[in-house]
Amino acid sequence: MRSSIFTIIISFILGLFLAVAPALAVDSSLPAIDNPFDSLQVKIPGMQRFSDAALSRSGANISFSTNWIGEYDMGVYNFGIAIIGILAVLAIAIGGVMWIMSFGNPGRVGEAKEWITGAILGLVLALGSYILLNTINADLVRMRPIQLGYVPPKTETIDGISITEGGSDSTAGIGGTVRDCADEATLIDLNKTNTHCDIFTASDPRITPRLAAELTKVCDTAHQLGVQQVEINSAFRTMEHQRRLYEDSGRNSRKVAPPTCNAPHVAGVAIDAYAYPRSATGQETLKRAFQANGWQRYCAEAWHFQPSYDPPGNACSP
Ligand SMILES: [Zn+2]
Repeated sequence: MRSSIFTIIISFILGLFLAVAPALAVDSSLPAIDNPFDSLQVKIPGMQRFSDAALSRSGANISFSTNWIGEYDMGVYNFGIAIIGILAVLAIAIGGVMWIMSFGNPGRVGEAKEWITGAILGLVLALGSYILLNTINADLVRMRPIQLGYVPPKTETIDGISITEGGSDSTAGIGGTVRDCADEATLIDLNKTNTHCDIFTASDPRITPRLAAELTKVCDTAHQLGVQQVEINSAFRTMEHQRRLYEDSGRNSRKVAPPTCNAPHVAGVAIDAYAYPRSATGQETLKRAFQANGWQRYCAEAWHFQPSYDPPGNACSP
Protein backbone atom coordinates (compact mmCIF):
# COMPACT_ATOMS: atom_id res chain seq x y z
CA MET A 1 0.00 0.00 0.00
CA ARG A 2 2.77 2.37 1.00
CA SER A 3 4.69 1.57 -2.15
CA SER A 4 1.72 2.24 -4.40
CA ILE A 5 1.08 5.64 -2.82
CA PHE A 6 4.78 6.34 -3.23
CA THR A 7 4.56 5.36 -6.90
CA ILE A 8 1.59 7.62 -7.52
CA ILE A 9 3.33 10.57 -5.89
CA ILE A 10 6.49 10.02 -7.95
CA SER A 11 4.53 9.60 -11.19
CA PHE A 12 2.58 12.74 -10.48
CA ILE A 13 5.67 14.82 -9.78
CA LEU A 14 7.39 13.59 -12.94
CA GLY A 15 4.22 14.07 -14.93
CA LEU A 16 4.35 17.73 -13.95
CA PHE A 17 8.00 17.97 -14.98
CA LEU A 18 7.51 16.36 -18.36
CA ALA A 19 4.31 18.16 -19.30
CA VAL A 20 4.03 18.25 -23.08
CA ALA A 21 3.22 21.12 -25.39
CA PRO A 22 -0.49 21.56 -26.14
CA ALA A 23 -1.92 20.47 -29.51
CA LEU A 24 -2.75 23.10 -32.09
CA ALA A 25 -6.28 24.37 -32.66
CA VAL A 26 -8.65 21.87 -34.29
CA ASP A 27 -10.00 22.62 -37.75
CA SER A 28 -13.17 20.57 -38.24
CA SER A 29 -13.12 20.98 -42.02
CA LEU A 30 -10.01 18.79 -42.16
CA PRO A 31 -9.98 14.99 -41.83
CA ALA A 32 -9.88 13.56 -38.32
CA ILE A 33 -6.74 11.82 -37.12
CA ASP A 34 -7.05 8.45 -35.38
CA ASN A 35 -5.53 8.34 -31.93
CA PRO A 36 -3.05 5.43 -32.08
CA PHE A 37 -3.28 4.70 -28.35
CA ASP A 38 -5.74 1.81 -28.70
CA SER A 39 -3.64 0.09 -31.35
CA LEU A 40 -0.35 0.21 -29.45
CA GLN A 41 1.37 -3.16 -29.52
CA VAL A 42 3.19 -2.52 -26.26
CA LYS A 43 1.10 -0.71 -23.68
CA ILE A 44 2.85 0.72 -20.66
CA PRO A 45 0.94 0.18 -17.39
CA GLY A 46 -0.40 3.41 -15.96
CA MET A 47 0.24 5.31 -19.17
CA GLN A 48 -2.27 8.03 -19.93
CA ARG A 49 -4.17 8.11 -23.20
CA PHE A 50 -2.38 10.08 -25.90
CA SER A 51 -3.66 13.56 -26.52
CA ASP A 52 -5.80 13.79 -29.64
CA ALA A 53 -4.06 15.29 -32.61
CA ALA A 54 -5.63 17.20 -35.47
CA LEU A 55 -4.71 18.75 -38.74
CA SER A 56 -4.40 22.49 -38.54
CA ARG A 57 -4.36 25.14 -41.17
CA SER A 58 -1.92 28.01 -41.32
CA GLY A 59 -2.49 30.01 -44.46
CA ALA A 60 -2.20 27.58 -47.37
CA ASN A 61 -0.25 25.06 -45.31
CA ILE A 62 -1.97 22.17 -43.62
CA SER A 63 0.10 20.49 -40.99
CA PHE A 64 -0.14 17.89 -38.34
CA SER A 65 1.45 18.24 -34.95
CA THR A 66 1.86 15.27 -32.66
CA ASN A 67 3.75 14.51 -29.50
CA TRP A 68 2.76 10.86 -29.23
CA ILE A 69 6.38 9.70 -29.15
CA GLY A 70 7.10 12.16 -26.34
CA GLU A 71 4.01 11.01 -24.47
CA TYR A 72 5.03 7.39 -24.92
CA ASP A 73 8.54 8.17 -23.66
CA MET A 74 6.99 9.88 -20.69
CA GLY A 75 4.96 6.74 -19.96
CA VAL A 76 8.08 4.55 -20.13
CA TYR A 77 10.03 6.96 -17.90
CA ASN A 78 7.26 7.21 -15.32
CA PHE A 79 6.87 3.45 -15.33
CA GLY A 80 10.61 2.97 -14.85
CA ILE A 81 10.63 5.43 -11.94
CA ALA A 82 7.65 3.64 -10.41
CA ILE A 83 9.47 0.29 -10.59
CA ILE A 84 12.57 1.85 -9.02
CA GLY A 85 10.36 3.35 -6.30
CA ILE A 86 8.80 -0.02 -5.52
CA LEU A 87 12.19 -1.74 -5.45
CA ALA A 88 13.61 0.96 -3.18
CA VAL A 89 10.75 0.62 -0.70
CA LEU A 90 11.23 -3.14 -0.79
CA ALA A 91 14.99 -2.85 -0.22
CA ILE A 92 14.46 -0.43 2.68
CA ALA A 93 11.96 -2.87 4.21
CA ILE A 94 14.44 -5.76 3.85
CA GLY A 95 17.15 -3.61 5.45
CA GLY A 96 14.79 -2.75 8.31
CA VAL A 97 13.92 -6.39 8.97
CA MET A 98 17.61 -7.34 8.85
CA TRP A 99 18.37 -4.60 11.37
CA ILE A 100 15.70 -5.87 13.76
CA MET A 101 16.85 -9.47 13.33
CA SER A 102 20.52 -8.56 13.86
CA PHE A 103 20.08 -8.41 17.67
CA GLY A 104 22.92 -5.94 17.88
CA ASN A 105 25.42 -8.00 15.87
CA PRO A 106 27.61 -5.20 14.37
CA GLY A 107 28.34 -7.09 11.13
CA ARG A 108 24.66 -7.68 10.43
CA VAL A 109 23.67 -4.14 11.42
CA GLY A 110 26.25 -2.87 8.92
CA GLU A 111 24.76 -5.07 6.22
CA ALA A 112 21.26 -3.78 7.00
CA LYS A 113 22.50 -0.19 6.78
CA GLU A 114 24.04 -0.95 3.40
CA TRP A 115 20.68 -2.13 2.11
CA ILE A 116 18.93 1.01 3.28
CA THR A 117 21.57 3.51 2.12
CA GLY A 118 21.88 1.70 -1.22
CA ALA A 119 18.14 1.92 -1.76
CA ILE A 120 17.97 5.60 -0.87
CA LEU A 121 20.99 6.40 -3.06
CA GLY A 122 19.42 4.56 -6.01
CA LEU A 123 16.18 6.43 -5.53
CA VAL A 124 17.93 9.79 -5.36
CA LEU A 125 19.88 8.99 -8.54
CA ALA A 126 16.73 7.94 -10.40
CA LEU A 127 14.78 11.00 -9.31
CA GLY A 128 17.78 13.23 -9.87
CA SER A 129 18.27 12.01 -13.44
CA TYR A 130 15.77 14.58 -14.65
CA ILE A 131 17.59 17.43 -12.93
CA LEU A 132 20.92 16.06 -14.16
CA LEU A 133 19.79 15.89 -17.80
CA ASN A 134 18.08 19.25 -17.54
CA THR A 135 21.33 20.78 -16.27
CA ILE A 136 23.45 19.25 -19.04
CA ASN A 137 21.08 20.30 -21.81
CA ALA A 138 17.46 21.29 -21.33
CA ASP A 139 16.59 19.90 -24.76
CA LEU A 140 17.27 16.40 -23.45
CA VAL A 141 14.11 16.50 -21.35
CA ARG A 142 11.99 18.84 -23.44
CA MET A 143 9.54 16.86 -25.56
CA ARG A 144 8.82 18.89 -28.67
CA PRO A 145 5.89 17.90 -30.88
CA ILE A 146 6.72 16.57 -34.32
CA GLN A 147 5.41 18.77 -37.15
CA LEU A 148 4.36 16.99 -40.31
CA GLY A 149 3.02 18.41 -43.53
CA TYR A 150 -0.29 17.04 -44.78
CA VAL A 151 -0.61 15.50 -48.22
CA PRO A 152 -4.28 15.49 -49.27
CA PRO A 153 -5.66 12.33 -50.94
CA LYS A 154 -4.91 12.27 -54.62
CA THR A 155 -7.79 12.17 -57.04
CA GLU A 156 -6.97 10.83 -60.43
CA THR A 157 -9.01 9.98 -63.46
CA ILE A 158 -8.68 6.58 -65.09
CA ASP A 159 -10.74 5.94 -68.21
CA GLY A 160 -12.81 9.00 -67.41
CA ILE A 161 -13.65 7.69 -63.93
CA SER A 162 -12.55 9.81 -61.00
CA ILE A 163 -10.84 7.85 -58.26
CA THR A 164 -9.90 9.15 -54.82
CA GLU A 165 -7.08 7.54 -52.92
CA GLY A 166 -7.70 6.00 -49.54
CA GLY A 167 -10.82 4.25 -50.72
CA SER A 168 -12.78 1.69 -48.85
CA ASP A 169 -12.70 -1.68 -50.52
CA SER A 170 -12.36 -2.73 -46.99
CA THR A 171 -14.14 -3.77 -43.86
CA ALA A 172 -13.65 -0.39 -42.23
CA GLY A 173 -16.79 0.88 -40.58
CA ILE A 174 -18.17 -2.56 -39.83
CA GLY A 175 -18.30 -3.33 -36.14
CA GLY A 176 -16.91 -6.84 -35.82
CA THR A 177 -17.37 -9.78 -38.15
CA VAL A 178 -20.58 -9.70 -40.12
CA ARG A 179 -19.77 -11.94 -43.05
CA ASP A 180 -18.80 -15.57 -43.65
CA CYS A 181 -16.52 -16.87 -46.34
CA ALA A 182 -18.36 -17.92 -49.49
CA ASP A 183 -18.92 -21.66 -49.81
CA GLU A 184 -16.53 -22.53 -52.63
CA ALA A 185 -18.33 -25.78 -53.38
CA THR A 186 -21.40 -23.85 -54.54
CA LEU A 187 -19.60 -21.31 -56.74
CA ILE A 188 -20.43 -21.15 -60.43
CA ASP A 189 -18.37 -19.99 -63.39
CA LEU A 190 -19.37 -16.53 -64.67
CA ASN A 191 -18.59 -17.60 -68.22
CA LYS A 192 -21.01 -20.50 -67.96
CA THR A 193 -23.74 -18.59 -66.13
CA ASN A 194 -26.22 -16.38 -67.90
CA THR A 195 -26.06 -13.18 -65.86
CA HIS A 196 -26.99 -11.00 -68.87
CA CYS A 197 -23.70 -9.17 -68.26
CA ASP A 198 -21.28 -9.00 -71.18
CA ILE A 199 -17.55 -9.04 -70.43
CA PHE A 200 -15.73 -11.01 -67.76
CA THR A 201 -12.20 -9.91 -66.98
CA ALA A 202 -12.05 -11.21 -63.43
CA SER A 203 -8.96 -13.35 -62.83
CA ASP A 204 -11.20 -15.76 -60.91
CA PRO A 205 -14.36 -16.22 -63.00
CA ARG A 206 -16.40 -17.68 -60.14
CA ILE A 207 -19.40 -16.12 -58.40
CA THR A 208 -21.95 -17.22 -55.82
CA PRO A 209 -25.36 -18.24 -57.26
CA ARG A 210 -27.07 -15.64 -55.11
CA LEU A 211 -24.84 -12.83 -56.36
CA ALA A 212 -25.27 -14.05 -59.95
CA ALA A 213 -29.05 -13.82 -59.59
CA GLU A 214 -28.80 -10.30 -58.19
CA LEU A 215 -26.37 -9.30 -60.90
CA THR A 216 -28.68 -10.50 -63.67
CA LYS A 217 -31.26 -7.91 -62.59
CA VAL A 218 -28.61 -5.18 -62.53
CA CYS A 219 -27.29 -5.98 -66.01
CA ASP A 220 -30.83 -5.96 -67.39
CA THR A 221 -31.45 -2.53 -65.85
CA ALA A 222 -28.07 -1.26 -67.10
CA HIS A 223 -28.89 -2.25 -70.67
CA GLN A 224 -32.31 -0.60 -70.39
CA LEU A 225 -30.59 2.60 -69.19
CA GLY A 226 -28.33 2.54 -72.25
CA VAL A 227 -25.11 0.96 -70.98
CA GLN A 228 -23.73 -0.85 -74.01
CA GLN A 229 -21.87 -3.58 -72.17
CA VAL A 230 -21.24 -4.42 -68.53
CA GLU A 231 -17.77 -5.62 -67.64
CA ILE A 232 -17.32 -7.70 -64.50
CA ASN A 233 -13.80 -7.09 -63.32
CA SER A 234 -13.78 -9.03 -60.04
CA ALA A 235 -16.27 -11.25 -58.24
CA PHE A 236 -15.36 -13.96 -55.77
CA ARG A 237 -11.81 -13.96 -54.40
CA THR A 238 -10.05 -16.76 -52.59
CA MET A 239 -8.39 -15.92 -49.29
CA GLU A 240 -5.03 -16.31 -51.02
CA HIS A 241 -6.06 -13.85 -53.73
CA GLN A 242 -7.23 -11.33 -51.12
CA ARG A 243 -4.00 -11.81 -49.17
CA ARG A 244 -1.98 -11.08 -52.30
CA LEU A 245 -3.96 -7.88 -53.00
CA TYR A 246 -3.62 -6.84 -49.38
CA GLU A 247 0.15 -7.41 -49.39
CA ASP A 248 0.48 -5.54 -52.71
CA SER A 249 -1.32 -2.56 -51.16
CA GLY A 250 1.35 -2.44 -48.43
CA ARG A 251 -1.19 -3.88 -45.97
CA ASN A 252 -3.26 -0.74 -46.32
CA SER A 253 -6.62 -1.73 -44.87
CA ARG A 254 -8.10 1.56 -46.02
CA LYS A 255 -7.44 0.50 -49.59
CA VAL A 256 -7.85 -3.27 -49.56
CA ALA A 257 -9.75 -5.35 -47.05
CA PRO A 258 -7.51 -7.59 -44.92
CA PRO A 259 -7.70 -11.28 -45.86
CA THR A 260 -10.54 -12.47 -43.66
CA CYS A 261 -13.99 -13.88 -44.38
CA ASN A 262 -15.27 -10.38 -43.63
CA ALA A 263 -13.71 -9.07 -46.86
CA PRO A 264 -16.67 -8.54 -49.23
CA HIS A 265 -15.12 -10.32 -52.21
CA VAL A 266 -14.00 -13.28 -50.09
CA ALA A 267 -17.51 -13.47 -48.64
CA GLY A 268 -18.87 -13.48 -52.20
CA VAL A 269 -20.98 -10.36 -51.66
CA ALA A 270 -19.23 -7.86 -53.91
CA ILE A 271 -18.41 -7.32 -57.53
CA ASP A 272 -16.26 -4.80 -59.32
CA ALA A 273 -17.93 -3.66 -62.53
CA TYR A 274 -17.45 -1.13 -65.32
CA ALA A 275 -19.64 0.23 -68.04
CA TYR A 276 -17.94 -0.64 -71.34
CA PRO A 277 -16.64 1.32 -73.21
CA ARG A 278 -15.40 2.98 -70.05
CA SER A 279 -16.42 6.58 -69.39
CA ALA A 280 -17.44 8.69 -66.44
CA THR A 281 -21.02 9.08 -67.65
CA GLY A 282 -21.25 5.37 -68.48
CA GLN A 283 -20.09 4.50 -64.97
CA GLU A 284 -22.67 6.90 -63.49
CA THR A 285 -25.39 5.17 -65.50
CA LEU A 286 -24.13 1.79 -64.32
CA LYS A 287 -24.25 3.07 -60.76
CA ARG A 288 -27.89 4.03 -61.21
CA ALA A 289 -28.61 0.53 -62.50
CA PHE A 290 -27.05 -0.97 -59.37
CA GLN A 291 -28.82 1.46 -57.07
CA ALA A 292 -32.17 0.75 -58.73
CA ASN A 293 -31.69 -2.81 -57.57
CA GLY A 294 -30.74 -1.84 -54.05
CA TRP A 295 -26.99 -2.18 -54.35
CA GLN A 296 -24.47 0.11 -52.69
CA ARG A 297 -21.35 1.55 -54.23
CA TYR A 298 -18.21 2.57 -52.42
CA CYS A 299 -17.65 6.31 -52.51
CA ALA A 300 -13.98 6.07 -53.30
CA GLU A 301 -14.24 3.11 -55.63
CA ALA A 302 -16.44 3.79 -58.61
CA TRP A 303 -16.33 0.09 -59.58
CA HIS A 304 -17.16 -1.66 -56.32
CA PHE A 305 -20.76 -2.67 -55.67
CA GLN A 306 -22.45 -4.69 -52.94
CA PRO A 307 -25.98 -6.10 -53.08
CA SER A 308 -28.92 -5.24 -50.86
CA TYR A 309 -28.77 -8.45 -48.83
CA ASP A 310 -25.25 -7.67 -47.64
CA PRO A 311 -25.10 -5.98 -44.24
CA PRO A 312 -24.49 -2.26 -44.66
CA GLY A 313 -20.85 -1.91 -43.86
CA ASN A 314 -19.80 1.37 -45.26
CA ALA A 315 -20.81 4.75 -44.08
CA CYS A 316 -20.26 6.12 -47.53
CA SER A 317 -22.59 5.04 -50.31
CA PRO A 318 -23.44 7.69 -52.91
ZN1 LIG B 1 -14.33 -4.52 -54.98
